[in-house]
Amino acid sequence: MARYTDAVCRLCRREGQKLFLKGDRCYTEKCAIERRAYAPGQHGQGRTKNSEYGLQLREKQKAKRYYGILENQFHTYFEIAAKKKGQTGENLLSLLESRLDNTVYRLGFAMSRPEARQLVRHGHFTVNGHKTDIPSFLVKPGMVIALKETSKSIEKIKSSIEANSFRQPPKWLDFDRNNLVAKVVGVPTKEDIDLPIEEHLIVEFYSK
Ligand code: SF4
Repeated sequence: MARYTDAVCRLCRREGQKLFLKGDRCYTEKCAIERRAYAPGQHGQGRTKNSEYGLQLREKQKAKRYYGILENQFHTYFEIAAKKKGQTGENLLSLLESRLDNTVYRLGFAMSRPEARQLVRHGHFTVNGHKTDIPSFLVKPGMVIALKETSKSIEKIKSSIEANSFRQPPKWLDFDRNNLVAKVVGVPTKEDIDLPIEEHLIVEFYSK
């Protein structure tokens, strides 16, 4: 499957804000946004145009990059969201938030979404008791997500759980910290999403 392989800090610099793609490093002065808060490339420090289209494009790019999704898949999510009842923008955010890799991140098993994606790919989680290693798997109410017994001793996961112990999981997830098992008890809504995304701009972008 195609994936972005260039330096991820360039994505934050392109969007002009932290996307928190590198875990701990994002909170230190080594963060590229702290040191070079301008777009990458030869013209990165030049004048930027804020046309209506430009704003919509940037918002779409930002959402894609937060969740680590490439264009085709993101567009597919948009089409699914548009066919569902309710507001397309909010449906889109709900779909993105329901991805298994994002769920693992929101539960605090990883320090960043890319790290969560890797943990899922490596088969550390089960859904309803079955090993599930597809990051884009969409979790639904009633499903149970658990860290595999054999993965509980992995240092990286243990340290993430400890570092994130202060973080409250979103209300659509009921997390049993003692057993490292979570039940999906609702559907993520816009209020549950901790990212500054103006979804109406994405809808406008695709509606042209
Ligand atoms: Fe973005 Fe984190 Fe890199 Fe900073 S360290 S630029 S927040 S990925």
